[in-house]
Amino acid sequence: VNYYLQNIQTKAHLNAFVEVYTDSALAQAAAVDQKISEGKAGRLAGMVIGIKDVLVYKDHEVNASSNILKGFVSQFTATAVQRLIDEDAVIVGRLNCDEFGMGSSNENTCHGKVLNAADETRVPGGSSGGSAVAVQANLCTVSLGTDTGGSVRQPAAFTGLVGIKPTYSRVSRWGLIAYASSFDTIGIFSRNVKDNALVMEIMAGPDNFDSTSSKKPVPPYSELLHFDKRVKVAYLRETIESPALQPEIKANTLALLDKLRKEGHEVEEVEFPLLKYVLPTYYILTTAEASSNLSRFDGVKYGYRTSAAHNLESMYKKTRSEGFGEEVKRRIMLGTFVLSASYYDAYFTKAQKVRRLIKEFTENLLNKFDYIVMPTTPSTAFKFGEHSNDPVAMYLEDLFTVQASVSGVPAISIPNGTDEKGLPIGIQIIANSFKEAELYAFADYLM
Ligand code: GLN
Repeated sequence: VNYYLQNIQTKAHLNAFVEVYTDSALAQAAAVDQKISEGKAGRLAGMVIGIKDVLVYKDHEVNASSNILKGFVSQFTATAVQRLIDEDAVIVGRLNCDEFGMGSSNENTCHGKVLNAADETRVPGGSSGGSAVAVQANLCTVSLGTDTGGSVRQPAAFTGLVGIKPTYSRVSRWGLIAYASSFDTIGIFSRNVKDNALVMEIMAGPDNFDSTSSKKPVPPYSELLHFDKRVKVAYLRETIESPALQPEIKANTLALLDKLRKEGHEVEEVEFPLLKYVLPTYYILTTAEASSNLSRFDGVKYGYRTSAAHNLESMYKKTRSEGFGEEVKRRIMLGTFVLSASYYDAYFTKAQKVRRLIKEFTENLLNKFDYIVMPTTPSTAFKFGEHSNDPVAMYLEDLFTVQASVSGVPAISIPNGTDEKGLPIGIQIIANSFKEAELYAFADYLM
């Protein structure tokens, strides 16, 4: 813990941590030391973990990187975090992110932007940018992020890490501040597959506090990494041929597929004509869910309240106008529009139908193939400000990550070389629902 606390201090300019829990982390560490000397240590003893600023931790502040939650202190701990603590992990601090998880660059935050340690003039990705940089820069052993449409996988790709989005419902969302409830998942950043698998097997599983959490038993992922079979891999033509794809990413992806062929695996090109509908479907449904989820931040129940109100209505209006950032407001308006009486069928209902088609296509493909492999991102880490005035360009960054989110299936990003500037490139592997064990084993084999 002292080692990481020291690193956090020397790398403070990266702005990954928004709060360091020095006191509670040292107290936890002392208790774990005691347990170790008694031979009673849990499975995560020695692991120092940072958590994204959307996961609540009893008696600690949490802001979702939003001014609207300034000063809010949680009265309880998220199930995912509690399970790590119960196995003697030390929670070292709270990590910067895009406001309510909305963004792909960690520029939409009340805490100031996070720098990518590979090139400090570039974004770390988002929304879990702080969680990525914390592991990248050696400020903690692993970190928790959340992935609604790529927020763990994309920053993992931009920082050269392993990042997983589990099957929807695999990890309890109790204590996760909601963005889009039918997409939100809690994921993990790590340097290697084994640490990631271990944390997942402890964090996953049924929870009485989240009725959507799956009751399926959780396999011991970290003990199932052995891989010695021939597998069937599909790649989607439209992803490889996408005009948005950076040439080095295309080359490295094709090289990996070639290597798989040479090692005796079956690799097949498949058409995915729905690719162009995946982003619109994702952004219609997630903004709709967000507009509803964020209605609870009204100046009464949580955090910030304007001081300039003269009646109830102006209190609501001013609190929300002053408390939310630009991108969050944009999404609340978009979401409210697609849910409005006259447009509901044209947008929301239509998008639900397309979601069903994308999910069915993906699941059918994963019944025929063990894995789908594709680039995690169209480009490597971009410069600050490059997309900040163009929301659509920013949304396009999520082109390859949203398919797994819309379908609810698990996906992992692992490093796959670098571009000519030396920036990390990620490759994404997708498997069918609840196949995390297979995903981890294949990822470990590829690394
Ligand atoms: N960039 C995507 C968005 O802004 C994904 C965010 C996420 O996964 N939380 O919605």
